[in-house]
Amino acid sequence: MTISVDPEQCYGSGDCVHRAPSVFTLVGGFGAVIPGREHAVDAPRVREAAEGCPSAAITIRDEG
Ligand code: SF4
Repeated sequence: MTISVDPEQCYGSGDCVHRAPSVFTLVGGFGAVIPGREHAVDAPRVREAAEGCPSAAITIRDEG
């Protein structure tokens, strides 16, 4: 899976960081994927974060 955050949609609620702190962080007040964690394996929490993002800014792409 590849995880990304659309900075145009994110409004910095921080929910993703609370749900999956090993993958998400806040940069300048907005959600971002921690560098090197774009292909994280903590799938349940990452999916929870994506589904729970209030602005639907998180995209998960499943490969293969
Ligand atoms: S949960 Fe969504 S809106 Fe909130 S910081 Fe994360 S990406 Fe941004």
